[in-house]
Amino acid sequence: MSDVRVRFAPSPTGFFHIGSARTALFNWLYARHTGGRFILRIEDTDKQRNTEEALRVLLSGMRWLGLDWDEGPEAGGDYGPYFQSERQAVYDEYLERLRAAGRCYEKDGAIWFRLEGERYTEYDDFKKAEVEKVKAAPVIINDAVRGRVERSEEMDFVIVRKDGNPVFHFVNVVDDIAMGITHVIRGEDHLSNTSKHVELFRAFGVEPPLFAHIPLILKESGPGKMSKRDKGALVEDYETRGFLAAAVRNYISLLGWNPKDDREKLSIDEIVELFDFPGINKGNARFDERKLSALNSEYLRELDIGSFCFLARPRLAESGLVGEEVSEDYLQAVLTLCQPKARSLDSLEELCGYFFSDTFIFDEKASAKLAKKGDPKATIAELLPVLESLASFEAESMQAALEKHAEMKGEKPFAFFPALRMAVSGKGGGPDLMPLLAVLGRERVLARLQNYMA
Ligand code: GLU
Repeated sequence: MSDVRVRFAPSPTGFFHIGSARTALFNWLYARHTGGRFILRIEDTDKQRNTEEALRVLLSGMRWLGLDWDEGPEAGGDYGPYFQSERQAVYDEYLERLRAAGRCYEKDGAIWFRLEGERYTEYDDFKKAEVEKVKAAPVIINDAVRGRVERSEEMDFVIVRKDGNPVFHFVNVVDDIAMGITHVIRGEDHLSNTSKHVELFRAFGVEPPLFAHIPLILKESGPGKMSKRDKGALVEDYETRGFLAAAVRNYISLLGWNPKDDREKLSIDEIVELFDFPGINKGNARFDERKLSALNSEYLRELDIGSFCFLARPRLAESGLVGEEVSEDYLQAVLTLCQPKARSLDSLEELCGYFFSDTFIFDEKASAKLAKKGDPKATIAELLPVLESLASFEAESMQAALEKHAEMKGEKPFAFFPALRMAVSGKGGGPDLMPLLAVLGRERVLARLQNYMA
């Protein structure tokens, strides 16, 4: 155990954006790396958006990614409540402290934070009025990622609005103090708020935590930050699309961090061991769904066949392809052939549908290509008796029979394969053909060949 306390402080909106997930993951990784604690604090001050459903999406996304929190909603903890909407008493108490220290005042119905320093007035072109400014000492932030950042606040700012609601800067800092947060790991978009936050920490007489502002995630192409409308931006979509959580988590860890040895596929234990601030990049990260898909297929290929079947069956059942009548043995035989080609569990329907249903679609492009090389129906008509006469439908015996037939016809052994594959699967590619035929079985294969000719 260490005394590191980090927090993920989302404001639930109903979506679990990749950027939020990355902030959550980096905090979680830092806590696990240091043996500290990972706190989940819900910044639910926007009553319109921060609904119960929005919270459910967030918690379920975090659980799916395996980001367990040591304190927070449902977990409890000594520093609760963990919802800002339930912490008014804490905010009142801290506001009182500022008042007692002479660091806040009321103006126009709102409560303002008072900066320390010499005051002067200046004409503001935008507001078309004289405004009061303050020569406050510059705030120096030694950011664990950005390095030394210097910024000065030059105007008092509102901490409690006219409607009585405290503003983000105030509650965020109060909670970080009250919850004993030692490191603030958050998106770079908050760097511009940090001088205000440091001023508040100081006004409470508290040394600010160590800040680590992590780079933005840019959308797949073009400039600009990834938004929830961009394709691939929501964690919950990956869950529905049948991605593996471990692969998604591995990919997200690389958005702004690298293990410094060019590796991309790392187990979560390795990431926990290697993760630290020096590995976080200063430059922006760019989202790349192809890379995520490639990583996902690597993870899928590595699953043992039992786990693969366990994950695949409900997917195939959902698409109506696989009912209870499909035996575990048959499913396993099919998936053993298809697993190496699977990019996501979602792609299985397309990849192996013909193993379960006789009504598959013939690929037009592949059919046209085949027709250019001869008459596939005639080829099948010749092969049908060869296969029909076989006593065994094992891959080896079929291979031998087809080779013999090819030799007789003065053809290369693989010459008939494309027509055969088309007739039984409707496709131009797929798993090795002999094992494919063996798994499909004699009855299905012969019936499909007959059908194809007709
Ligand atoms: N609720 C803020 C956000 O979602 C938290 C910022 C912080 O981590 O300090 O951006």
